[in-house]
Amino acid sequence: MNGLMMQQSLLISSLLTHAERHHGEQEIVSRRVEGDIHRYTFRDMAARARRMANAIAALGVKHSERVATLAWNGHRHMELYYAASGSGAVLHTLNPRLHPDQVSWIADHAEDQVLFFDMSFLPLVEAIAPRVKTIRHFVAMTDRAHMPKDARVPGLLCYEDLIDGSSDRFDWPEFDENTAASLCYTSGTTGNPKGVLYSHRSTLLHTFAAALPDALNCSVADVILPVVPMFHVNAWGLPYVACMVGAKLVFPGPALDGKSLHELFEREGVTLSAGVPTVWQGLLAHVESHGLSFRTMRRTIIGGSACPPAMIRTFQDRYQVHVLHAWGMTELSPLGTVCSFKPKHLALSQEERFAVQAMQGHALYGVDMKIIDEDGSELPWDGQCSGDLLVRGPWIVSQYFRGEGDPLVHSDGKGWFPTGDVASIDADGFMRITDRSKDVIKSGGEWIGSIDLENIAMAHPQVAMAACIAAYHPKWDERPLLVVVKKPEQALSREKLLAFYEGKIASWWTPDDVVFVDEIPLGATGKMLKHKLRETFKSYQLPTAWSAT
Ligand code: ADP
Repeated sequence: MNGLMMQQSLLISSLLTHAERHHGEQEIVSRRVEGDIHRYTFRDMAARARRMANAIAALGVKHSERVATLAWNGHRHMELYYAASGSGAVLHTLNPRLHPDQVSWIADHAEDQVLFFDMSFLPLVEAIAPRVKTIRHFVAMTDRAHMPKDARVPGLLCYEDLIDGSSDRFDWPEFDENTAASLCYTSGTTGNPKGVLYSHRSTLLHTFAAALPDALNCSVADVILPVVPMFHVNAWGLPYVACMVGAKLVFPGPALDGKSLHELFEREGVTLSAGVPTVWQGLLAHVESHGLSFRTMRRTIIGGSACPPAMIRTFQDRYQVHVLHAWGMTELSPLGTVCSFKPKHLALSQEERFAVQAMQGHALYGVDMKIIDEDGSELPWDGQCSGDLLVRGPWIVSQYFRGEGDPLVHSDGKGWFPTGDVASIDADGFMRITDRSKDVIKSGGEWIGSIDLENIAMAHPQVAMAACIAAYHPKWDERPLLVVVKKPEQALSREKLLAFYEGKIASWWTPDDVVFVDEIPLGATGKMLKHKLRETFKSYQLPTAWSAT
């Protein structure tokens, strides 16, 4: 027997119509690429999203076709979030920090039809425009007065012209909630980047769970400033959460330095923010050196890489800002765990509570997790045993976009997603990341592909073998260290090898150091044993580390 309740698809457009109807006066404030501060309401945003939905349709975008963005956090990007997904297209947020070769590879793989971009990314768009195969329209996210005069982009369109030329009457279509809504690429551990294709249903369920009190704890009383980019797993879902709960949103645009952020926090009364640890280092340094404080900010979500315990302490002790440590992945939409306290933790001393906060936290409702050993047997939740972390749930990837094969691990008759993280879980269900089994480097919250760096080194005529591993860095958490075996009798220098990377990758991917060794340990199948190298270079001091402290 079925239940007798209304059948209504969980669609992203419903978040917007809810926000417009019930929180229409709530503000969205953006620092724009043009340099000014833009201010309007959810009601205004909804009307412009409808205009943009009409414009996207007029550009010929069909159901489930991809609409790409290269944009900072701002009100126009927010409009596109709803206009593209809401109208049945797929929003594809490209990461502008990647090398142009990677951006165009990803745009081709996604078969993007239209590209919307902030003016800061014009040089990048000019570089990829002649190569991308499927993009039919390029739209500069600005007004007529700020349009570039001589851009090398074919048929460049102006965002505000599209808005002005379109009606604000648009009925958000109803369709199956399993329809694709947005697409993000992750660098993955091997081979090419992989697309994670979220559905309307997965996004809505993630939004419900993220907003809950023991998750991100968001309410209409909050003023949320997502520093985490909208091209990083949909700014961890905050543009959706804000509409669901009716919270005021503040977007920092391109200005992510401590001074600009602090000004916005104070002027707009921000209560909750979110970002990777590196961002907060800059902010804390600014606040500290100018003797400032936080008037309204009470909580900040920190994730993307492990939050240093000293940062948790500084935020709490000096500024009375509570750090909510969170763990997630692109493949998890992204939230998996959040470190909010259980009642019993409140009775602990401050020191003991800091130790709890340094963990990645408990699973959100909807996420199941387990740790397994090398044989696939489940390990106990005793806070001691460490194993490969597997997860499952309705907002966790089941297959990569146009990927081959099944990425899941099958046990207990179910499919589990292998996170590539190694973790322990304690008796309270609090998870702690202890290591990473996947072969990647994460610098300031952004992936660096170790395989790409190795391939370039191996292409150097004087290199016999090269392995790239993550070395600890006080500012960026991890930076690439290249371990190289030279061909016999070759006098290759560190500087020459590093110069070889110029123009081949985004400059921030260049390894911080090169170590020449006699041999790299190999496994039985001839694979480089990178975990052995990581162990050998565990305490390696990068030459770039001292200047960061
Ligand atoms: P995001 O954009 O949310 O950072 P990614 O898919 O780029 O997602 O990266 C996910 C990976 O980042 C995780 O598998 C893990 O290795 C690392 N990570 C994310 N959050 C944390 C955290 N709080 N502590 C340690 N590592 C983390």
